Amino acid sequence: MNKPRSKSANDAPAAPSGSIADLVTPASKRATESSPRDPKGKAASGRGLQDQLVRLGIMRDQDLVLHLPLRYEDHTRVVPLRALAPGMTTQAEGTVVNVDIQYRPRRQLVALIADGEERAADPQRAGQLILRFFHFYPNTQKALAPGKRVRVFGEVRDGHFGREIVHPQFKVIEPGAVLPDRLTPVYPTTAGLAQETLRKLTARALASEPASTAETLPDWLIARRHLWKFSDAVRFLHAPPPRLSQLTQHALDERTHPAWTRLKFDELVAQQLSLKAHRKARAAKRAPVLTGTGALTGALLARVPFKLTRAQERVWREIKFDLARTTPMQRLLQGDVGSGKTIVAALAALQAIESGRQVAFMAPTEILAEQHYRKLLQWLEGLPVQIAWLSGSLPAKQRKTALAAMESGDAMFAIGTHALFEDEVLLPRLGLAIVDEQHRFGVAQRLKLRGKAMGEAHQLMMSATPIPRTLAMTFYADLDVSALDELPPGRTPVATRLVSQKRRAEVVERVRRACAEGRQAYWVCPLIEESEKLELQTAVALHAELTATLGGQRRLSPSPDSTAWRPRREKVVSDPISVGLLHGRMKPDEKAAVMAGFVAGAVQVLVATTVIEVGVDVPNATLMAIEHAERFGLAQLHQLRGRVGRGAAESTCYLLFEEPLTDTAKARLKVIFENNDGFEIARQDLIIRGPGEFLGARQSGVPLLRFADLEKDVALIEQARDAADELLQRDPAAADAHLARWLGGKEEFIKA
Ligand code: ADP
Ligand code: MG
Repeated sequence: MNKPRSKSANDAPAAPSGSIADLVTPASKRATESSPRDPKGKAASGRGLQDQLVRLGIMRDQDLVLHLPLRYEDHTRVVPLRALAPGMTTQAEGTVVNVDIQYRPRRQLVALIADGEERAADPQRAGQLILRFFHFYPNTQKALAPGKRVRVFGEVRDGHFGREIVHPQFKVIEPGAVLPDRLTPVYPTTAGLAQETLRKLTARALASEPASTAETLPDWLIARRHLWKFSDAVRFLHAPPPRLSQLTQHALDERTHPAWTRLKFDELVAQQLSLKAHRKARAAKRAPVLTGTGALTGALLARVPFKLTRAQERVWREIKFDLARTTPMQRLLQGDVGSGKTIVAALAALQAIESGRQVAFMAPTEILAEQHYRKLLQWLEGLPVQIAWLSGSLPAKQRKTALAAMESGDAMFAIGTHALFEDEVLLPRLGLAIVDEQHRFGVAQRLKLRGKAMGEAHQLMMSATPIPRTLAMTFYADLDVSALDELPPGRTPVATRLVSQKRRAEVVERVRRACAEGRQAYWVCPLIEESEKLELQTAVALHAELTATLGGQRRLSPSPDSTAWRPRREKVVSDPISVGLLHGRMKPDEKAAVMAGFVAGAVQVLVATTVIEVGVDVPNATLMAIEHAERFGLAQLHQLRGRVGRGAAESTCYLLFEEPLTDTAKARLKVIFENNDGFEIARQDLIIRGPGEFLGARQSGVPLLRFADLEKDVALIEQARDAADELLQRDPAAADAHLARWLGGKEEFIKA
């Protein structure tokens, strides 16, 4: 395997150390001149290899050092053929007895190897092994010529003709060739890039480039924390010794081994340093000073029909103060569903406008954005503030008008969806960007927002979902947080009822009664994640069903399939009820019309998919039924339930579930049944779903941290945070070197 380096590679003038050219040239030479036996390795040309490495984020040899194995194979020993058993994944060795291409049942290369004396004997006997290849190159057959000694690695199984390995890794060796003395790493790789190539490149980077394994953290920092040296840690992880104790093996697999701890620690320190650098850069930026005059904010406060809660007052003061500073604000306003975030956002916006600056207010769905737009139109009616509305579905002509008004500054207030992120949108006097339900935006969108487009503006983000502690210490460490920890007065907590589908008719009657009393209701369609089409059909069917049941003038009677429910004595005759339908596939103006009807009270029951999940605000709606509640996430249920209980009247949320429930489903419904507090629900949700969900990492596919785990490594995150502070104070040069190793060519750690 370890051929001597070709002469030309040796004689070549040395490339600057650490450059990718240095890595690629000799390796590609080896790849083309060797291994006709390795079909995968063969194709890599220098250029192709470089591209493949870049695809893995490997630009420098330092990056190779940090490209750690997923797992290991034990090639340090050879199991005698007669000791092989099905299911073993192992290395064996033998001499090729024969090799040929067979055509039944399909074309395949089959070789038989034997060790010791059993050669050429009865194939059923132990001491032999069949190698089977369904994909192979012509030279695979040549390489496996009878008489050649081969080492093979793979999973042994029982075939028709005895023990075999399908597609083994194999290499031709000189009899008695030495075995490796370390475990063989298996790396994350990309199409066309062979493990063997990565192994060689990495081994070379580890051996020949001291800078790539040099210590970046000072002694005083690692000694006190009893951390492994960096070079020891990476050498161990790339090539651990064989026959580890069970305990060590477990630690290695679970990434709790001290070598892993060191890598995770370094990664987290780098992330903390990057956050601090970002914070410093932000502090150095100059944002417009938005002191305001109080004219517009005062007018708004005078006309809304309520007084701010103490929490709203406090948060508003914090924001007011931030806006008047020269440093761009980056504040997250956290407040449970219904805590009254919108009025705070409106006040902030008006203060910016009073100071002659424009404001962009973004919401993650068209329905929510439009609702904000209407609310603000109403709140600001008669005040000298022009509002522009922008969404993806706006007709071209209106879009042009809106864009022009924003660009000229005639419109000081822009409200819309993420359409406001687009490059075409020009807000030359932008002073404040507000993002509602910010966690609902994807990571990429949030990055864009934090990027140059909104660079010098103040930012206010709002969310009903509290940040888990580990995230607050890491990706959100850069933000200031304000919390609305008090609901407006006069709210009665929403009563939650768990109801089996069997008793659905009762819920329908509750809805009828609520409507008879002048109230309104939501009926939420079941979530069907696999099929949007099916979800749509279900919504339409549900709407038809409820229209038939509630819309006609009819006597109250039990539904035929209901056994639990008994009709009341007195016969109730009710007026027909108007049932509306709202789903994601409707045209924006259709949606808007239905929503407007519901807000005005003309539509009494709103059948809706989860498009109403965020922010919809109709205080007269006091009843909600959620079908197949067991299919929803906890945060989602809490958000949905938050659509009711917005006025003074008592509200109820019926969670309809289909029996039988799984244990997890039961546990989750119990959480939502027992808790009204969004923070507690989010805590439980995090346990069930993990933080990736919160970050929106899933939709963007951007890896956040490579080695550290936000859930498991809480203690390490805390240590890393302290270490980063200390490092910046005592040894800023080391901090720079450390950051350079971990960030390399990449721009920065992603900030949510
Ligand atoms: P969220 O924090 O969920 O976005 P909203 O801003 O939509 O909450 O407010 C929920 C409802 O409470 C709205 O109808 C709003 O007008 C009302 N509201 C906000 N602040 C107060 C207050 N201080 N007193 C009474 N009602 C309020
Ligand atoms: Mg809201």
